[in-house]
Amino acid sequence: MRYTALYRQWRPETFDEVVGQDATIRILKNQIKSNRIAHAYLFCGSRGTGKTSTAKVFAKAVNCLNPIDGNPCLKCEVCQKLSIGSSMDIIEIDAASNNGVDEIRELRDKVKYPPVVGRYKVYIIDEVHMLSTGAFNALLKTLEEPPQHIIFILATTEPHRLPATILSRCQRFNFKRIANKSIVSRLAEIAKRTGVQVEREALYTIARWAEGSMRDALSLLDQCIGFGGNVVSNEDVLAVLGTADQGFIFAVAENIIEGNVSDLFYQVEQLIEDGRDVIVFLKDLIHHLRNLLVIKVCHDGAELIDVGEDTFKAYTEQAQKASQERLMRAIEILCAAEAEMRWSTQPRVSLEMALVRICRPEQEVMLDALMDRVAKLEQQLEGGVVVKQTSPSRKGARAASKSQAVDGGSTVGKEGGDDGSNAGGGTADAHVWEEVLGIIKKERIALYGFLKDCGFVLDEKGVAVLSFPADQQFFMESINREDNRNFVEKAIERVIGRQVKVRCTLVEGKSTSTEPEEKSQNEDIIEKAIDIFGEDFVEIVDD
Ligand SMILES: [Zn+2]
Repeated sequence: MRYTALYRQWRPETFDEVVGQDATIRILKNQIKSNRIAHAYLFCGSRGTGKTSTAKVFAKAVNCLNPIDGNPCLKCEVCQKLSIGSSMDIIEIDAASNNGVDEIRELRDKVKYPPVVGRYKVYIIDEVHMLSTGAFNALLKTLEEPPQHIIFILATTEPHRLPATILSRCQRFNFKRIANKSIVSRLAEIAKRTGVQVEREALYTIARWAEGSMRDALSLLDQCIGFGGNVVSNEDVLAVLGTADQGFIFAVAENIIEGNVSDLFYQVEQLIEDGRDVIVFLKDLIHHLRNLLVIKVCHDGAELIDVGEDTFKAYTEQAQKASQERLMRAIEILCAAEAEMRWSTQPRVSLEMALVRICRPEQEVMLDALMDRVAKLEQQLEGGVVVKQTSPSRKGARAASKSQAVDGGSTVGKEGGDDGSNAGGGTADAHVWEEVLGIIKKERIALYGFLKDCGFVLDEKGVAVLSFPADQQFFMESINREDNRNFVEKAIERVIGRQVKVRCTLVEGKSTSTEPEEKSQNEDIIEKAIDIFGEDFVEIVDD
């Protein structure tokens, strides 16, 4: 006996057997029942979602002598004749296999002949977007004045490539990707009726891989039956797909959560030795971490994760050990690595790099911060900034005059960073503070308002001293609130790459926020002077 592929063998014969397109099917059935049939339909949607199958069912249903609730009865004379397949009344054209000019011309000549067995002749044009411009024009002529007995069903995965003139003449239906649960239950039914035992877990793996395509799911099931015989386990499916088994992925995820870089390197080694595809593995790993994140965020999320009960339990246990931040970071980094790998000749190295980056965030922060600072220094050198060595005594004097709370060292105030004389630790602090303020301004503008006038010194013990002007006690108290202080500490940590404690102090003197006004007053005077005496006679002397 010749073997028929499962997806051909189990092609839906009635609307009720079409999976996962309930809205579309309901409308089509109603049209049959009420006999309000259009002359041109457009079925859009990704591959394997049931466009052609539905078109074929529809072609039978419009011709059936005794439709049952909109479905073809499959028993009447017409249904029987149309089922033979070589019917003259249901004509399938595959636009992908040729650009279709000749076939569409022929179609134009033949549409005038009435159907042989039923009431309608139905033309199903698959992948209609592949037609050439000439073929489209020929088709358009027919669509403009279709004979009463003709129905066109155009199917496409890419409706945006169709000319507007064609689109506007069709009744359009969108076929959605089929939900994994629907695929699983259909696969289970087919397996049962074929006499094959398939593990529940295996069905979910197939459905997940098929990404909404029933045809792909059935083709894969076919291959798995070929591989495993009449009993198909999840391992069989994974073997056919060439992906790593669930246990391995759980173990890798465990090491990502724990930050065990060296174990991860050994696991990558094992992956390569087993001859697994690195990119396929990466996709699985991202999917796994995504599931953990869903559980973490939704506190349950069983409906959002297509796995069997046991696996779901394992996911929940693992999710409890992971922090949301690490999961998000890991997914972000792995997705970037996946994109990079497509062009890389060394996918393994890309994977290893990504794993290290996930497990060692503190290094990365430091590197990022350093890169930033190097870039800034380069910019300043290009701009010709002169850096002077300042004598310790002067530094001390500056600090003392500015702040009594800070003994020794240097203070960075509003003007500290840009006067060029504040070299050494002070300059470094100024740059750090500038970056920290940049972060805070972006993420918590209110806190930025409290902090913009305060001084910043980082001492060797990892304490960041924030000195507020005496008239900003309220600001200081706000920053001293635990959540705000934590935020500032985190922001500083992000810049310098190590932990700090923030200590707030009040210092004598007023806030410097009035400074710009003073400046503008000075500028005013200078402008007036220039007005009165002329530019050549005004010399500006800084004291
Ligand atoms: Zn019938």
